[in-house]
Amino acid sequence: MRFIVFFFMFSSCLYSQVDSIYNDDPAQYMPLGMTHAQYHYYADTGLANIDTMRLNPPFWWVGMKNPKLEILLYDQNINDYTVRIDNTVGIELEKVKRVSNPNYLFIDINILPQAKPGIFDIVLYGNNRNTKRYKYELRKRKNMIERGLRSSDFIYQIMPDRFANGDYTNDNFEDMMQQGINRKKMYFRHGGDIQGIIEHLDYIKSLGASAIWATPLLENNQPYASYHGYAITDFYNIDKRFGNNELYKKMVSKAHKKGLKTIMDIVLNHCGNENWLMHDIPSSDWIYQWPEFTRSNFRSSVVADPYVSDFDRDKLTKGWFDYSMPDFNQSNDLLATYLIQNNIWWAEYTQLDGYRIDTWFFPNQDFLSKWVKSIKNEFPDITLFGETWVQNESVQAYFTKNNKSGCNKNFNLPAVLDFQLNFAIEEALTKPQTWTGGIARLYYTLAQDFLYDNAYNNIIFLDNHDKSRIFSTLGEDMDKLKCAIGLLMTLRGIPAIYYGTELLFKGDGKPDGTVRQDFPGGWKEDKINKFIKTGRNLEENDIYNYIRKLAFYRKENPVLQTGKLKHFIPENGLYVYFRYNKEKTIMIILNTGDKLQVLNKKRYGELLGNHIKAKNIITNKIINLNDIKIKKNNILILELI
Ligand code: CA
Repeated sequence: MRFIVFFFMFSSCLYSQVDSIYNDDPAQYMPLGMTHAQYHYYADTGLANIDTMRLNPPFWWVGMKNPKLEILLYDQNINDYTVRIDNTVGIELEKVKRVSNPNYLFIDINILPQAKPGIFDIVLYGNNRNTKRYKYELRKRKNMIERGLRSSDFIYQIMPDRFANGDYTNDNFEDMMQQGINRKKMYFRHGGDIQGIIEHLDYIKSLGASAIWATPLLENNQPYASYHGYAITDFYNIDKRFGNNELYKKMVSKAHKKGLKTIMDIVLNHCGNENWLMHDIPSSDWIYQWPEFTRSNFRSSVVADPYVSDFDRDKLTKGWFDYSMPDFNQSNDLLATYLIQNNIWWAEYTQLDGYRIDTWFFPNQDFLSKWVKSIKNEFPDITLFGETWVQNESVQAYFTKNNKSGCNKNFNLPAVLDFQLNFAIEEALTKPQTWTGGIARLYYTLAQDFLYDNAYNNIIFLDNHDKSRIFSTLGEDMDKLKCAIGLLMTLRGIPAIYYGTELLFKGDGKPDGTVRQDFPGGWKEDKINKFIKTGRNLEENDIYNYIRKLAFYRKENPVLQTGKLKHFIPENGLYVYFRYNKEKTIMIILNTGDKLQVLNKKRYGELLGNHIKAKNIITNKIINLNDIKIKKNNILILELI
C-alpha cells in the first residue's frame, strides 16, 4: 500500500494510472518489442538509419565565462574520421572523444578571448573517403540583463497544453507519435500552446503575478500522454505543438516587456524513451541498465541517511522513473556536460529568469552540484529551485545551499519547492489542533527554518500539477481557501499559485489528469471565457479578487517580502504571526478552531507595542485591537496603524 502511495505521489510523468473511463490502455503504448522484464532494450548498436544529422548545441557564443565547449556531432559512421577546425581565429580543437557507437563524435573546443562571432567549419577527413564539412556558428553574447526572481515575486504556474490554444495550425502533425487533439480525453493533447500564453500575459499580470512557470515545453514525441512534457525527446527543441524555439524566445521577451519573469521547467533525471539519443544511444552507460525493469524507490531519505544500504541508494538513483523514462547516468561525463550545456544554452538563447528542476533528489548529487555551479558561473543571478517532494524538513533543507542540517556536502541548490510548508498548510486547515497536529504542524514546520541558510528563498505553494487541487483538499470551503491564500501571501518565501486556483478548480489528482483542466476561454470554441470578469461567477470573482488584492498589497509592501517573521505557539487552533520591518508591522490571525475566538491582546505585546488600531488590508476597514473577534476558518491580515 505504501508503494502505491508513493507511486501516486510521483505522478507528474506517469501514465500507468489511467482512469479506465478514458479507455486508454497504456500497455498498448509500450515501445515495440518490449516487455516489462526486458529492459536491456537500448544497446549501442550504431545501426540506426540516420536521417537527421545533428550538432548539439546547435550554436554557441563567444564571451562565455567558461571558454570550453563540447560539441556532439551525430552522423552516419563518423567515429574513425579525423577532425579539424577551419576558417576561424581563436578556436582551438582540444580533443576528440569517441564512444562505442560509431555515429557520434564529441569535439572539445576552446574558444579563446580573440575569437569573434561568426561561422567556422568542423571538417572530418576519412581514409579514402569523402570529406565531411559542418558549419558551426558562434554568436555574440547578449549583455547581461537583470534576471532572476526576488522576494517580491509571485509565480503563476501553467500547464501549457491546458491553458490556451493560441494557434490551431500546430494542433496536429502527422510525424508526431501522438496525433491530433481530443479535449475529452485527459491523456491526449488539448492544443494549448505558447501563443496561448503570449495572448494571456495581461491576464496573468492583472492577477498580480510577476513570473510565469510553464511545465516543460521541450519536445515530447511520445506515443502517449505527451502533453505533460516531462518525457523529453529533444533537449534542444520546443515541441512543435507548442510552437518553436523562436516563439518561446519571443514569449520570454514579451513577458519581460510586461514586467513578467519566465521560469523554464527542466528535467535532468531522465528523458523520454523516444528521445533520439535513446534510439541510437551513444554508449550503453548513458542510462542505468538493469537486467529487468527496475523502478526507483522514490525515497529521498536515502540520500541523507547515515544508515542507508547500497541496495536502497542504488534503487533511488539508478532505478527508472517509469517504463517510458530511462534513467540518466550523469556520472558519465559526456552526458553531464551535454545536460549542463543544454541549460546554459537555453538561458543565454532566451534570457529566461530561472529554472525549476524536476525530480531533484533522484540524480547523482555530485552532478547536480556541478550543474548548479556551472549555471551560476555563467548567470550569477539566475533563479534555480528544485522539486524536493520529500517527507520532512531536514531532508528538504539538506539539498539547499549552505544548509544547517549537519551534512558535510554542499549541494548548492539555492532554493527548493517547499513541500513541507505545503503539507503543513493542508494539515492546518483540515485537521483539529493537537500537540503536534493541525495548525501546530505549521508552527513546527516554520520553527525548523533554522535548517536553511535562507528559507525566504523557498518557493511556497498550495498545490501543483501533481497534487489535489487546494479547493478540493479544503472540502470546497471558500473560507478555508481564503485562509490558505492568506497564508501563501503572508508567510516567508516566494509564493506560487497553480492556474485555476483563482477559478476554484477542483480535482483530487487521482489520476493526475483531474487537476490539469482546460482553462475555460482558452479555446475559441469555449462558450464561457473565464479570462474576463463577466465570464466568471460571483464566487470565482470573489477568489480572483482576493488573490489579486493580496498579490498587489504584497508587491507594494516589502514587509511581506523581506520583513522578519515572528510567530506564537498556536492555542485552541488560533495562530498569530507577524511580519515586520522598520516601516510596517503586519499581524496575521488565523482561526482554525471550531468556534469564534476573542484575541488576547496582551500575549502579543512585544509586537503590538502602543498600537491600538489596525487596517484590515482586504476590507480596508479600521479596527480596534482591543476588540478583535475572529470567526472559525477565518484569517485576518492587519496592518498596524
Ligand atoms: Ca495549438
